[in-house]
Amino acid sequence: MKPFDFIRADSTEDAVAALAEHGANARILAGGTDLLADLKHSQNAPGVVLDISGVDELTTISLADDGLHIGAGVTHSDIMDDPQIEEHAAAMILAAHTIGAVQTRNMGTLGGNLVTCVPSMDSGPVLVALEAEVVVIGAGGRRQMPITEFFVGPRKTILAEGELLVDIIIPTTSLGKPAHFLKFGLRKGQALALVNAASATWVENGTFKDPRIALGAVAPTVIRCLRAEASLNGKAIGTDAINEAAKIAAFEAKPIDDFRASKEYRIDLIEVGVRRTLGVAAGITRAGGE
Ligand SMILES: Cc1cc2nc3c(=O)[nH]c(=O)nc-3n(C[C@H](O)[C@H](O)[C@H](O)COP(=O)(O)OP(=O)(O)OC[C@H]3O[C@@H](n4cnc5c(N)ncnc54)[C@H](O)[C@@H]3O)c2cc1C
Repeated sequence: MKPFDFIRADSTEDAVAALAEHGANARILAGGTDLLADLKHSQNAPGVVLDISGVDELTTISLADDGLHIGAGVTHSDIMDDPQIEEHAAAMILAAHTIGAVQTRNMGTLGGNLVTCVPSMDSGPVLVALEAEVVVIGAGGRRQMPITEFFVGPRKTILAEGELLVDIIIPTTSLGKPAHFLKFGLRKGQALALVNAASATWVENGTFKDPRIALGAVAPTVIRCLRAEASLNGKAIGTDAINEAAKIAAFEAKPIDDFRASKEYRIDLIEVGVRRTLGVAAGITRAGGE
């Protein structure tokens, strides 16, 4: 590992000032579960590591007029233990539970997971299905955008140099929306997703209202399956509509062949994942028994 200077920020203002001062030479450290591996192996090691793990304002979870705010520094374990998340966005807990092992979940943060931005990230699909917004700040001010705009490509987000991800917001319109998440890996624990899927839908008079379907590990970033969603909206809830949506979703994805699974196997998993998550979100199958 190359030597670097270590700076601890006490507030987001501190962090933004340090980023402005050190520019591309600085890397942010939150839980360090991704960054430490980069520091050990990367040729482009930073000269400065900026630790934001002590910034209290990044670790709060609170309900406001515009939705549920989750600080970027909230860990996966915090998510699993939080009563407000359980009440308003419980599918986030299902996703957090699948991330690494308990040590990784205790250290790893939601913000770090989103910024690392691997296509298989497990936090992404539920947040996309719940139409989350993210807030970033930098010397130039504050920007808020839908989470789908934050993801640009594999390991690439919209963050500009000197910007910090501070907040993830589940909008009021999605609070309490029935949702479900499933991850398929080569084994039950400590595995990257071959496919992960999240669905959310309101149920109105026995029909799908504003269904949302998101998939990870099947395209350069987490995707929303807009055509599959459109095929369901307003339709009577039932297995025919769900099976059709699952087939459409598989067409919208662009899974790859690699050493872990073939493209064809991933397409099968997409259909299974969409069918099962939609079934649970729509209330016609039970989680775990889907
Ligand atoms: C053994 C192991 C198992 C894992 N299993 C999984 C898994 O099953 N599923 C999964 O999705 N991930 C998994 N991960 C990946 C990792 O744990 C998560 O992505 C974690 O959430 C990263 O968060 P962190 O706080 O540790 O990020 P860090 O390592 O601190 O940072 C990650 C990156 O994000 C940047 N960054 C962090 N916070 C911010 C911020 N607020 N603003 C701007 N930039 C920021 C850092 O500079 C760095 O580039 C695993 C990792 C390990 C080591």
